[in-house]
Amino acid sequence: MVNAQLKSEIIAYSKSIGIDKIGFAAVDPFVLFRERLKDQQQLGYESGFEKGTIEERTTPAKLLPVAKTIISIALAYPSRLKNAPRSVKGDRRGIFCRASWGEDYHHILRRKLKALEEFIVERVPDTRCLSMVDTGELSDRAVAERAGIGWSGKNCAVITPEFGSYVYLGEMITTLSLPVDTPIEDQCGECNKCVDACPTGALVQGGQLDSNKCIAFLTQTKDFLPDQYRKKLGNRLYGCDTCQVVCPENKGKDHHHHEEMEPDPDLAKPRLLPLLTISNREFKEKFGHVSGSWRGKKPIQRNAIIALAHYKEESALPTLYELLKNDPRPVIRGTAAWAIGEIGGEESEKRLNLALEKEDDKDAVEEISKGLETIYQRKK
Ligand code: SF4
Ligand code: SF4
Repeated sequence: MVNAQLKSEIIAYSKSIGIDKIGFAAVDPFVLFRERLKDQQQLGYESGFEKGTIEERTTPAKLLPVAKTIISIALAYPSRLKNAPRSVKGDRRGIFCRASWGEDYHHILRRKLKALEEFIVERVPDTRCLSMVDTGELSDRAVAERAGIGWSGKNCAVITPEFGSYVYLGEMITTLSLPVDTPIEDQCGECNKCVDACPTGALVQGGQLDSNKCIAFLTQTKDFLPDQYRKKLGNRLYGCDTCQVVCPENKGKDHHHHEEMEPDPDLAKPRLLPLLTISNREFKEKFGHVSGSWRGKKPIQRNAIIALAHYKEESALPTLYELLKNDPRPVIRGTAAWAIGEIGGEESEKRLNLALEKEDDKDAVEEISKGLETIYQRKK
């Protein structure tokens, strides 16, 4: 029972460094998950952010030969913003999803996994470990499910009985042989709240996500946001929490265990207008430490423009005119043109006509035409 003893010691150590939940899983290939991934690929539901081949993503031994166990960890994150600033007319604000509050969780979890690795190697020298968080080949969720951290909900999140789905997940493949845990039974039952609440129908059926329809993914793309999703975006700047917020398993779950995860309300819900003209340097200084900045400022600015259109925020018009005229990026000029059309007004019509004469980017021209069309339709 040496390994059971070692497992207890690893659990005790994990608690001492602030890991909220830990589970142990076998390294067998994820056969069912592999079939699901193949289906996802065939149906065109992948996001394009996936790492590795399906074979690598479902075969731990391909990543670390002689691997014996996978250790899955979960850290609970806050779900409520204390002192949230209000978004009011003339001073509108956007929102970053909860997974982008506080310091980038990839860094926090990597530090925890590194400490855990060091503890293990000190106890059993020669142990080899390979850790990953979110961007590795393995699916954090599939591992967590097998390790008994939680069940995979119809909203595609891992739901823990203790912290709901408001947990960050990471894992470590190790050559250490340790007793494994039992998965938790699916407790979604007849509930379908997340599927019903999804604004874009991205949860095709319980547990299957079409990434290309999911707002969380769409907020991270750099190109024009497809028309049909613009009015569904609301004031979201990065990510989408709707299918987690409506989940009854998350009711009352709001854990503040980690100082680094505490959000700055002004960054979690930033003013929209200043984002439109923020410099690269300022963006990096202000938002560089949050996970939602990983794609740079352009998607956030594009989303901020769409959010201002959602609010029909007239005070944004002078800045939008400026972007339409001078921004070097067609996506920003074009999205500004669309937003100007949504907000409307005589001056807007004039500005769009002027821009149309000068614009030479095909997509931006199309957006200007859409903006003008919206204004004409409103006049009828
Ligand atoms: Fe739907 Fe938003 Fe959930 Fe994506 S994150 S599945 S868009 S509710
Ligand atoms: Fe499951 Fe209901 Fe939560 Fe969706 S909302 S994940 S169906 S419990």
